[in-house]
Amino acid sequence: MNHNVSSSSNVSLMLPSILELSRQSLTDSILEMGEKKFRSDQLWRSLYHDVSETFEEMSTLSKPFRNSLREKYSISTLKEVMLLTSSDRTTSKSLYRLGDGELIETVMMRYESDGHRRNRKTACISTQAGCALGCTFCATGQQGFRRNLTVGEIVGQVIDMQRVAIAEDRAQIDGGRRSKGEVQGVTNVVFMGMGEPLANYKNTISAIRVLNDGQGLNIGARHITVSTVGLIPEILKLADEDLQINLAISLHAPDNVTRSQTMPVNKRYPVQELINACHKYADKTKRRIFFEYVLLKDQNDSIEQAQKLGRLLNGLHCHVNLIPVNPTAGGPFERTDLISAKSFQGGLKQYGIPSTIRMEKGIDINAGCGQLRERAIDIFNN
Ligand code: SF4
Repeated sequence: MNHNVSSSSNVSLMLPSILELSRQSLTDSILEMGEKKFRSDQLWRSLYHDVSETFEEMSTLSKPFRNSLREKYSISTLKEVMLLTSSDRTTSKSLYRLGDGELIETVMMRYESDGHRRNRKTACISTQAGCALGCTFCATGQQGFRRNLTVGEIVGQVIDMQRVAIAEDRAQIDGGRRSKGEVQGVTNVVFMGMGEPLANYKNTISAIRVLNDGQGLNIGARHITVSTVGLIPEILKLADEDLQINLAISLHAPDNVTRSQTMPVNKRYPVQELINACHKYADKTKRRIFFEYVLLKDQNDSIEQAQKLGRLLNGLHCHVNLIPVNPTAGGPFERTDLISAKSFQGGLKQYGIPSTIRMEKGIDINAGCGQLRERAIDIFNN
């Protein structure tokens, strides 16, 4: 494991971040500054396509304009205070300090081409500092809610990952391990870091629209996944957004008794009502729904529970990801072994429900949500 504490000088606590502005607000601000509208497009491209770290390096803009921008705005308000890289170098996890001192985590996972799919770099981003939903298997849930992240703080994580990804692509091209012109950057974004994205609905949707913008980061909607514990009103609202993103539901149990033991949100939105909402979502969007099912040893991993889950999901256009749990320091659960995970998968198959066993990446760097922050607080406190 590599452990690297770094500092960055591009954080201004005084000026508002330009990443908080929608494309329209950015244009309005540029016009107010006496510049022409096309400058706004150039600026947008510098921010989100070129991922410039400073206004100074935006060479398509005039010097006086860059100076005016610098006096008015900062760019990112995230400061990376810790970086961990897994021993196989496929996963890295950044801990960021926000302008007000809150800590959040972002993970990057690198996947080699497997013949069916090309190389991918997936950024797993946070939408809240802490989380109010209190799932018992989750380190973030055990830390409590701090606040919602702003649009700029959500998008800022992807921009930072994009800089890293582009630098890696270029190094591979220089080393002859990648074809010339094959700078991909971040290919996928998953909203699966700290917090519940749909509890920060407005900023999550605004951030998706920025990520998806073809003149900026240009992350295709089908390469963006939002994960929720199942906030029914927001799932139904999301169905009306006309976004072709992927929706993942953290289900983790096939019945109310078991689910309520680890996910307090289930008392508000019970299993059957949640699945009914999923049917409505799938009917409206024509999109397949992903179910995340963290396997907890002796809690939700029996063959009977697999069959119950199969019956529950029967008839729904869906796919189940089975995830043997990444144990947290204070958590009560152990990891389900691979043999038990495979028999659980067999139980689902009896009902025709497709599933994948997904071993979590980055085990040696505590890549499960909230675990780096927990550990950093330990480190900072000692
Ligand atoms: S699993 Fe997600 S929703 Fe549950 S406590 Fe953790 S961050 Fe919150």
